[in-house]
Amino acid sequence: MASLSRLFLLLFLFLVHLRWCTVDAVYIAYNTSAGIVEGKLNVHLVPHTHDDVGWLKTVDQYYVGSNNSIQGACVQNVLDSMVQALMEDKNRKFIYVEQAFFQRWWRQQSNAVKDLVRRFVKSGQLEFTNGGMCMHDEATVHYIDMIDQTTLGHRFLKMEFEIVPKIGWQIDPFGHSAVQAYLLSAEVGFDALYFSRIDYQDLTKRKDTKTLEVIWRGSKSLSSSSDVFTGIFPKDYEPPGDFYFEVDDTSPVVQDDPLLFDYNVQERVNDFVAAAVSQANITRSNHIMFTMGTDFRYQYAKSWFRQLDKFIHYVNLDGRVNTFYSTPSIYTKAKYASNESWPLKTDDFFPYADGLNRYWTGYFTSRPALKGYIRVLSGYYLAARQLELLTSSRNKKGPTTDSLGDALALTQHHDAVTGTEKQHVANDYAKRLAIGYTEAERLVGKSLSYLAESAFGSGFSNTSTKFEQCLLINVTYCPSSELHLSRGKRLVVLVYNSLGWNREDVIRIPVASELVLVQDHEGTEIESQIIPIANASLDLRRTYVKAYTGNSPSMEPKFWLAFSVNVPPFGFSTYFITPTKEKGSKAIISDSYVPQENGISTIREVGSGNLRLKFDTEKGISYHYSNRRTSVNSSIEQSYLYYKGFDGSKTDTQSSGAYVFRPNGTVSAAPEIKIPLAVYKGPILDEVHFKITPWIQQIVRVYKKKEHVEVEYIVGPVPIDDKVGKEVVTQFSTFMETNKTFYTDSNGRDFIKRIRDFRSDWELKVHEPVAGNYYPLNLGMFIKDKSTELSLLVDRAIGGSSILDGQVELMLHRRLLHDDGKGVAESLNETVCVNDKCDGLIVQGKFYLSVDPLGEGARWRRTTGQDIYSPLLLAFSEEEIGTKWTDKHITTLSLTGNSYKLPDNVALITLQSLEDGSVLLRLAHLYEVGEDKDLSVMASVNLKKLFKGNKIRGIKETSLTANQGRDEMEKNRLKWRIEGSDGLEGPVRGRPVDSSELVVELAPMEIRTFLLLFDSLSYDF
Ligand SMILES: [Zn+2]
Repeated sequence: MASLSRLFLLLFLFLVHLRWCTVDAVYIAYNTSAGIVEGKLNVHLVPHTHDDVGWLKTVDQYYVGSNNSIQGACVQNVLDSMVQALMEDKNRKFIYVEQAFFQRWWRQQSNAVKDLVRRFVKSGQLEFTNGGMCMHDEATVHYIDMIDQTTLGHRFLKMEFEIVPKIGWQIDPFGHSAVQAYLLSAEVGFDALYFSRIDYQDLTKRKDTKTLEVIWRGSKSLSSSSDVFTGIFPKDYEPPGDFYFEVDDTSPVVQDDPLLFDYNVQERVNDFVAAAVSQANITRSNHIMFTMGTDFRYQYAKSWFRQLDKFIHYVNLDGRVNTFYSTPSIYTKAKYASNESWPLKTDDFFPYADGLNRYWTGYFTSRPALKGYIRVLSGYYLAARQLELLTSSRNKKGPTTDSLGDALALTQHHDAVTGTEKQHVANDYAKRLAIGYTEAERLVGKSLSYLAESAFGSGFSNTSTKFEQCLLINVTYCPSSELHLSRGKRLVVLVYNSLGWNREDVIRIPVASELVLVQDHEGTEIESQIIPIANASLDLRRTYVKAYTGNSPSMEPKFWLAFSVNVPPFGFSTYFITPTKEKGSKAIISDSYVPQENGISTIREVGSGNLRLKFDTEKGISYHYSNRRTSVNSSIEQSYLYYKGFDGSKTDTQSSGAYVFRPNGTVSAAPEIKIPLAVYKGPILDEVHFKITPWIQQIVRVYKKKEHVEVEYIVGPVPIDDKVGKEVVTQFSTFMETNKTFYTDSNGRDFIKRIRDFRSDWELKVHEPVAGNYYPLNLGMFIKDKSTELSLLVDRAIGGSSILDGQVELMLHRRLLHDDGKGVAESLNETVCVNDKCDGLIVQGKFYLSVDPLGEGARWRRTTGQDIYSPLLLAFSEEEIGTKWTDKHITTLSLTGNSYKLPDNVALITLQSLEDGSVLLRLAHLYEVGEDKDLSVMASVNLKKLFKGNKIRGIKETSLTANQGRDEMEKNRLKWRIEGSDGLEGPVRGRPVDSSELVVELAPMEIRTFLLLFDSLSYDF
């Protein structure tokens, strides 16, 4: 009994004690003030949200929180509740990334909220990370688009908050590019770059060897001068283990009220410490980062912060590890202060696989038409901004390039240009691009008429000439050229060249009649050529013009009119096309050799210049390529094939889809040996039309004055009657001995060496011999042997590989019938509907092939690459026959007064007037170290000559995104220690620009950015 009464006494005392505790426990002041503690394991808690600017919903649906049946996501809630949560506790921190969302929100806020947010930014509670409009993709984007979209966000942050983002945060893109490391990280002044998606085999090895954090040297040419500290997350960009705290998340919350059931403080502290120790075991130094958040989280921010407050409080009371609110920049500084040496990483992180048969290499080609549209408008945006500056039209009321810039920025997102968004979202992107283009087109038309009339003093707002452009000329639709001529008027073609050197090229426009004559800007009749339009092109036109415009054109052109043009740098030339009554002009009708009865043309050789192509029509598509100037001879066999998309049926559920390429065998698209072809020959170019299958056609062009082959393909609708998805490729096979080696570009800039079935960072286990050897192409690829180089250049982002020695392959189109389980929950089955009848999407595009002597390919790739990215811009007007255009217009002009051109190894990649009246100028060296014996050298550009007649009052060199001085950026950047490094100096770069000399030096692969001030920029042409 005694013991029983003792037990009761104990129980009584315990309850009294508990009672006292609960009195204390009504309110707990969590201590969230912790910071770094030396000597302890420091767990940096980084609260973040990952907000895709379009994926399952459109960017605006995500922002306002509509269409929630698809995904419960409202970014407005994230930002609203973030303000409340940060206000409640000054120790709380948050990072925000996507400026497209932030800007939508910011313009809706009251001054009071804006002041509050400015205070958060100033105190470091809110940190802008990355800072571009979106978190761009890294495989299928062009470096100029990456720069432009990041600049838009960075300049906004500079203007509104006077801040420069210091950390790259590319947490979700599916693989990571060298250009991202050296250009979009180091050259924008980032101290570090963080992401999560790398190959699963690579990840395992890095965890085992504590090499998740490295110094990444992305550029051979810029070498150590563009290194960046790079952190790869050990799992993904989500919290480790069970630490998710959105309102509807299922992780156990910290229940620390003893009056309530399920008190679990110690349990949760143990979980936290275990997660920290496990991550510390694979990380160097005693700092680790927990990424506390994921997609569209913090919609009710307090629900996360309440838990994080408790963890900081109780974990630090526990004392085994130290944890606190942090940001990637605090984490980076701590890493830096640890004085560790880090392993060096070169090349890139492609391709990405997250499992055995899960290579994310399909998206390199997914939605090829959207990819093509984005690339066309990217080049157009560059040209339009030049014209906006030349005509100072930003200062006048009227159209601008801004909405095109915004639309292009959004579409660089890692679920936009990648083709991994839902169809309705892809439509939304296309609509934004169309709206942006329409406004920019008006600006370009107006600017060109102003320039053409400039000598006659009409002024920008009083121009009378109307110029039209033909965006749909790729589907043979150009009402200006078709209609004007048929109405008996003279067609005026103004050809604008946005490149910095003089350009001779051939333009082609559709015309209704072969009875025309072409005159140059001096009125001299010049040679032209009439080529019949291929039936495949006319078929494409009939469907797509109706699909895009809603109308069927009343008439149909019959011919392409081709003629050579000569256009000065940053300037235009004018050409005149007049209908004639009878033949006899210099418009030469092509000799045609159409298929004979057996379907084979009798003519087998084309090319009237240095390049000759001979066809062997008995063996599919085989060429004998010979260049008389270089003496290169090569036998090339081309074929079209398709991979059957794995359907993910039965036990093995991974199918080929928008992200993943998982082939299930190859099939020749054209098993017949003899392919019908028609040949058209003339003084300017020769064309060969191939009908490979009813759904694959191609036109091969050889221009008299060019030494490469242009191939136009029309692929689709990809047949799916057999219920099999197909991924269509073209292969070129040669006898070249390439020893598993090929080269692919990084975002249209550096070329990276690829070795089949090999990775430089780990011993690759090959499970997917095709998909695992695919790489993204933006500029192109090449192979080489002891004597020659074979190069292919592309007109948009696509995937490519070299699956056998001597062979190159491009993936042109994909139509798939199953979702690949990566979240988009749709199959990649694009269709186009006309009159409610829908059929598979047809894709039209071009690639270019050249075979050069070893060592000479780079010059062709770089120069032609510029021509492809910036095609000549055509604008059409008309005049009555009998009137004289030159009475009211000048017919040629150049920004440089036609007396200066850029060196062959330099491109002007940005020329843009900014809101504050300054001018943004970027110059890019086009060659890598050692790439070309003559051109991989220091280049220089004379700005006085470039801006002839205009006085540069001020010049400031800036970071790549023009948000800080270059000196400032260099001074502030952290210099990291590399394992085993001898600490050698970096490469030579261009010297600072002397403000009286105004000469810009550029070392190989260097891009330099300047803000210029002019007295008042004007052109007196
Ligand atoms: Zn994402």
